[in-house]
Amino acid sequence: NLSDKLDRAFKVLKGQGTITEINVAETMKEIRKALLDADVNYKTAKAFTDEVRQKAIGQNVLTSISPGQLLTKIMNDELTDLMGGSTADLNFPATPTIILIAGLNGAGKTTFSGKLANFLKTQKNKKPLLVAGDVYRPAAITQLQVLGEQIGIPVYADLESKDPIGIARAGVAQAKQNGNNVVIIDTAGRLAIDEAMMVEIEQVKAAVNPHEILFVVDAMTGQDAVNTAKVFNDRLDFTGAVLTKLDGDTRGGAALSIKSVVNKPIKFIGTGEKMEALDVFHPDRMASRILGMGDVVSLVERAQQQFDEKEAAELQKKIRKNKFDFNDFYGQIQQIKKMGNMKDLMGMIPGVGKMMKDVEVGDDAFKNIEAIIQSMTKFEKENPDAINQSRRTRIAKGSGTNIAEVNRLLKQFEDMRKVMKQMSNPAAMANMMRRMP
Ligand code: GDP
Ligand code: MG
Repeated sequence: NLSDKLDRAFKVLKGQGTITEINVAETMKEIRKALLDADVNYKTAKAFTDEVRQKAIGQNVLTSISPGQLLTKIMNDELTDLMGGSTADLNFPATPTIILIAGLNGAGKTTFSGKLANFLKTQKNKKPLLVAGDVYRPAAITQLQVLGEQIGIPVYADLESKDPIGIARAGVAQAKQNGNNVVIIDTAGRLAIDEAMMVEIEQVKAAVNPHEILFVVDAMTGQDAVNTAKVFNDRLDFTGAVLTKLDGDTRGGAALSIKSVVNKPIKFIGTGEKMEALDVFHPDRMASRILGMGDVVSLVERAQQQFDEKEAAELQKKIRKNKFDFNDFYGQIQQIKKMGNMKDLMGMIPGVGKMMKDVEVGDDAFKNIEAIIQSMTKFEKENPDAINQSRRTRIAKGSGTNIAEVNRLLKQFEDMRKVMKQMSNPAAMANMMRRMP
C-alpha cells in the first residue's frame, strides 16, 4: 500500500545529512509512483511532488531530526494543503437549513443521509427532517424510513408520488410546519451521463435552493471518483464532498485529488455501515494517515520549533572547549520544558510510549534542579569546578534542598559534561531524537 511504498522511499534518505537534488529526486520518483498507484491523478501527483521537491532541496537538516523526517513533515504540510488545509464546516445560514444529497447509485447517499441527521441531532443539537427523494425504487424509501426509526429522526415520504421535485418542496414545507431546523433531502442515484436524471436534480436544486449540496462518492472507486466529482460539480456546483467506505482496504487517492480537481472541500468521511460511522474530515489527520507516520510528524514539528540551529552550533563549540556551564544547562532545561511534558514527548516516539506509561516524568522533575541552579552565584554558574564544600552548603540552604541533592546534581552535571564532550553534541535531547526510528 501507499505507506509501505513511502517507507521504502524514505529509506533512500535515511542517514544522510542534508537533502540534496539527487536524494530528493530519487525519493520523489518513488512517491509519485506510490501516489499514482493509489489512484491520485497524474496532474495532482506531479504538482505535489514538484512542490515538495522545491521546498525540500537546500533545507538544512536540524541536528535533531533526520532528512527523512524533515521530508515527511514537508510532505505532510503539502498534503494537508492539497486537501483543503483546515476542516470545512457545514453552514447553517437559514432556518430551516436545506441540505441536498447527490451522487451515483450505491455511493452511500441514503446511509450518509441517516448518519448526517444523527450527527446533527446528537452533536449539533439540531432537529433534522429526512426527505425520501428516491422515487425510483420503493425499497429506497423503506431504507430511509428504517434508518429514521433507528436514530429517532422523522422522515417525510410520499409513496404515491413519482415527482422528486414536488417531494422536495413538500418536505421543506413540512419541516417549516413542524419546526425542523435542518432538512436533508436524499435523492436517487444517477449516472453522470444520464442527461434526463442530471436535469432532474438541477430542477430539485432550483426548486428548494439548498444551502448545502453534498456530493457523496465511494472512495473505493478511485480515479473514477474524481471524474464523477467533476461532472457533478459542473452541473450542481456542490458545496462539499463526502467520501464513503474509507473503512475497508481503501486507497486514499480520491481524497487527495478531489479538492485539487474541483476545488471543493471534503466535509465528511464515512467509515462503516453503522449510523455512528461518520467523521468530520480533517485534512491534517488524513495527510498523516496517508503518510502512515502518525505522531512522528508532530514530534518533528515540536523539535523544529524548539531547536534553534545557531544556538545549537554555539553550544556545540562550548562543549568542545569544555565551557558548557550551569547557565547553558539551565537554558537546556527550559528548552526541554517548552517542548511539553516529557512523558507526552517520549510517548510520541514509536515503541517508547508503552514503556513510559508507568514512569513519572514531568516538569516537577526539574523543580529542585532549577532551584539549585538559581541559588548559585554568577561565578559559580560559569565555573562549576569551583563549587567547593562551603559553597555547596550555602547553595543547599538557599535552594531549600540538602547537600546530598546538590552533590548529586554536581556529579550528574560533571558526568553529563564528559559524555557531551565525547559526543561533541549539542544536547542530550538532540541525541535522543537522533536515535528515533
Ligand atoms: P445509495 O445508493 O447512494 O443511497 O447508497 P446506500 O446508502 O444505499 O449504500 C450502499 C451500500 O454501501 C450499503 O450496503 C451501505 O451499507 C454501504 N455503505 C454506505 N456507506 C458506507 C461506509 O462508509 N462504509 C461501508 N463499509 N459501507 C458503506
Ligand atoms: Mg439511496
